[in-house]
This record gives sequence, C-alpha cells and structure tokens, in this order.
Amino acid sequence: MSLVGVPISFSGLLGLWPCGLPLELSSDDISAKLTEDPESIVAASTDFGMLTVKVPAAVLFPSSDRDIAELVRLAYESTQRITVAARGNGHSVWGQASAVGGVVVEMRSLGGDAAGDDQSSPRSTARLNVSEGGEPYVDAGGEQLWVDVLHEALRFGLAPRSWTDYLYLTVGGTLSNAGLGGQAFRHGPQISNVYELDVITGRGEMITCSKDSNSDLFYAVLGGLGQFGIITRARIGVEPAPDRVRWIRLIYTDFTAFTADQELLITLDEIRVPGKEVLKLERKKTKGLDYVEGFVVLGQTPVSNWRSSFFSDEDSKRIEALAALHGAAYCLEVAMNYRMDSAEDISQEIERLLEDLSFVPGFAFNNDVSYVEFLNRVHKGELQLRKLGFWAVPHPWLNLFVPRTRILDFDNGVFKGILQRNPSLGPILVYPLNRNKWDERMSAVIPDEDVFFTVGLLRSATREDWSQLEAQNEEILRFCELEGIEIKQYLPHHEGRSVWAKHFGRKWSTFLERKQKYDPKAILSPGQRIFDFPVA
Ligand code: FAD
Repeated sequence: MSLVGVPISFSGLLGLWPCGLPLELSSDDISAKLTEDPESIVAASTDFGMLTVKVPAAVLFPSSDRDIAELVRLAYESTQRITVAARGNGHSVWGQASAVGGVVVEMRSLGGDAAGDDQSSPRSTARLNVSEGGEPYVDAGGEQLWVDVLHEALRFGLAPRSWTDYLYLTVGGTLSNAGLGGQAFRHGPQISNVYELDVITGRGEMITCSKDSNSDLFYAVLGGLGQFGIITRARIGVEPAPDRVRWIRLIYTDFTAFTADQELLITLDEIRVPGKEVLKLERKKTKGLDYVEGFVVLGQTPVSNWRSSFFSDEDSKRIEALAALHGAAYCLEVAMNYRMDSAEDISQEIERLLEDLSFVPGFAFNNDVSYVEFLNRVHKGELQLRKLGFWAVPHPWLNLFVPRTRILDFDNGVFKGILQRNPSLGPILVYPLNRNKWDERMSAVIPDEDVFFTVGLLRSATREDWSQLEAQNEEILRFCELEGIEIKQYLPHHEGRSVWAKHFGRKWSTFLERKQKYDPKAILSPGQRIFDFPVA
C-alpha cells in the first residue's frame, strides 16, 4: 500500500495491538479501539490543506475521555517514545493534527460520530449540555463541531458570543489556536470566552481547570497548539441569541480609508478618533456593531470567491470592474444582530454609522438574514465548491497578525505587490482586532500593538500550482522580515527551535516551562513540530 508515494508496511501486525506500540503495555481497555486498518490510517494521514502526508502507526477511536487518558498514560509510562495527536476535524493545513509513527486520536468518535468530513449524517448531542441559570454556558465535548454547539444553545434561546467564520471546526481544535472571527473585536477570540476546561495532560492525568483552579494549565491550553493537554470538555459562555442580522458590505478603493474606517468601528468606545467625535458620542448611546471583518478583491479574481452568495451577479460585476480599474478593491463587512421583538431601531443606527464612513458612493450593499444563516454563511459556499470539485484541493494558506502601524506597508508590498503577480482563488481576509480582548496569560501570541490586523490568505490551489503559491507565501514572510514588519503567524507553521522561540517571543520561556510540567515526554501534538524528546 502507498500514500502518494510514501510506502507503508504493516508487517509488524501482532494481534490487536498495533505494531508501533509496546506490547508489554497493551491495554484491554483500549486495544479494541485502536486500529491500523488502512482506511483509518489514510484518513488520519492528511488534512484540509492536502499539502503533506504524515502516516501514524495507529488510530484510536475513543468512546470516552478515559480511553484517551489510558492511551496517554501508556505512552507516558513507555520506555519507547510514542506520540499522540488529537485530531479534531482535521482542518489544519500543514499536518498539525498528525503523529508520524504515533497514534492519532479521532476525537469525533467521542461523541459517537464518524470521523472525517461527512456532513450528511445526523450528529449526536449527548456531549453538549446547556445551563441557563446564573451566568449561562454550554458544556461541549472537545470533539464537538461549533455548528452543533450553536444549534444546541439555540434550543434554549442562547448562543456563544464569539465565532469562527466557518462552523465545521471542533471546539478543541479552535481553542488550541484562538478561534477568530468578526465578533472578536468586541468579545475577544473564542479562547477569551471559555470558563472551564477538562484536559488530559501529557502524563495521562485528567484535570479540570479554570481561571481560579489549576489556572496555569487553563491558560497554557488556550492557544497552546495542543502541547499541554487534550481538551475533552469546554465550558463556553453564552448570551441570549438574536433572531436576525443586518449584514452590510461597503466597497473601498483606498486602503487607507478602508482600514481607518475598520479601526474606527472597532475602537469607537476605546479611543478618540480625530474628526470622528460626533459619531463616537452617538455610538455610546446605542448598541453598536456585532461583527466587523473585511476582505480584499484583487483586480483579477472574482469577488464571490467562496464567501457566500451575498452579491447579485450585477453587483459582482460592478465591484470586479472597480477592482480591475484600481488594481484592488476592499470590502468592509459589518453586521448588527437584532431580535424581532425588540424596540431597537437598528436601521437608524446603521444609517448613522454609515454616514461617517468613506466607502465609494453607490457601493453599499445590504442584506437581512436569520442569525443561523449569517453564522453558517461559509457553509453555503462550501456546498457549492464541493459540487464543483473545488473543496478537496490543496490549500496553501497563510494567516498572519500584522501590527496596526505597518498595515499600510503590508498593503503596498503584498496586496499591491507580491499578490498581483500570481493571483489565486480563495478569499483574502483583512480585519482589525483589539489586543485588550486577549489575556496575556494565554499561550496564544499576538503583536504588541493595541490594535492589529488579521490577514488570511485562504488560497485554493491545484496539485500543479500549490507549491508556487507556497513559494509566494515564503516571499511574503521574507518581505515582512526585510521590512521589519513584526508579524505573528496565526495557525502557525514553523520548524526549528529558534523559529518557535521567536514566534512565542517573551512567552517562550513560560511555554517551555509549561511543556516540561504538563507533557515532559513531548507526547502531545507532535505535528506542530515544536518539541522533541527530551524537552529542553
Ligand atoms: P485539527 O486541525 O484537527 O487540530 C488542530 C490542532 O489542535 C492540532 O494540533 C491538534 O492536535 C489539536 N487539537 C485538536 N483537537 C484538540 C483537542 N480536543 N485538545 C487539544 N488539542 C486538540 N480559524 C479561525 O480562527 N477562524 C476562522 O474563521 C476559521 N475558518 C476556517 C475555515 C476553514 C474552511 C478551515 C479549513 C479552517 C478555518 N479555521 C479558522 C482554522 C481552524 O481554526 C483550524 O483549522 C483549527 O485547527 C480547527 O480545526 P479542527 O477542529 O479540525 O482541528
């Protein structure tokens, strides 16, 4: 058998216990749940990125948290090095959820669901529990998809505050990174909206942690790239859910005006903006926006991309013509939630907000959709792409955090420079975030400035051209390095101790100490390529 040219041998197969794992430690509890059948191995060897193939020795399909704890304990007690990777929905792009020669834990099996990307079968809600009293929350298994968290919370009229754009990601997977979307400027990323976690450390211990109890582990795990423990439950804050969303897109041809307006909208209550005081004062009396994002439309690419069918064909053509004329156009995307039974007049508030913005006259577009339709908007695009065969393709993505003071340099060098030479399909997101919504104690790293931009080059490629796009990503990173733009990678893809130390900056020594404490044998999430054994 071979996977894209990588030969795999199962010659060591001995009974039920996988060959790569030490026999003397075999466990009756989990041996029936460990498999090295080729189909499971192949599925666990690749991910959404389709850029690498990383073959594990075995795959665990756990039916309880205890199964995972047992596996990690065995690995910890073993004299051989056995690595273990939790795999959420496998939506990483560079094998971050892989374990070459180790064990991949298919987390989705915890909820009784099939691993993999099958979205058609009904999914279990047994590991989702909503509490309505006091400060309401959802207890979600780490393997749960956010789309299911949403639907379960909505049954109680509640919903989490902070979302990713795409909901078919697992709770454990996004909390290991940050979980970013257009609500993060206001509520922080998903990692800022968690009250409590159940975690299995690299020693196989099951620990409950929160801000007040085992807080060091709690903060380590949030944005910790799976290095300190496997999240089996997260308690996520929720609030009363809105019914509908007013969804607006505004087109700009001037990047400076675009980002200035974005910044204004996310910082209205935080800072004084020269010339915008009236708007600032008025906003204080009102509820404000619930979502702020934005994206770049390069002159040569269709505006629709895969970010839903918001624009009519006619509007798309007008925007594409504008982008072609100017080399690029920029779309500011905002949303305001509302309840059907509320007396709030959001139309007036939105009108007031728009009055002070500098988009191209005649290029404001309005939509009104249900809350679920808004949150699940990317899924619509996904279904279209799946039909066309453009979903399961290589994705050489690059996600960066760019300091506010350098975003114009980034625009000049990257959007107006490097990307013009080799356009690709897939959205290019750009939107600002407030640093004060992130807790410094969490493992996630962001630039030092009060406001920074997240830039996502979410490219779709072919088997033939993905390496060219990856070379372009490298060029962008080199450009930032040469220009002294102190970016941080989000969903990072690094190799080598010094590069990771630079990535974590002043948090590196804490990151290392926590690794020594919670996973001293470097068992967990080896696909991130941060640590080897011994951890030092
Ligand atoms: P995986 O890719 O399976 O795992 C990611 C990492 O987390 C691995 O290192 C893995 O070992 C570890 N891990 C997984 N589960 C656990 C667990 N329970 N406990 C501990 N560690 C675990 N991100 C955003 O922030 N915002 C977005 O809007 C957004 N949109 C996306 C849209 C698409 C179409 C895709 C493919 C990705 C998007 N992402 C977004 C990125 C996403 O957050 C990451 O891919 C993330 O890894 C979650 O995917 P996953 O649940 O499949 O995790």
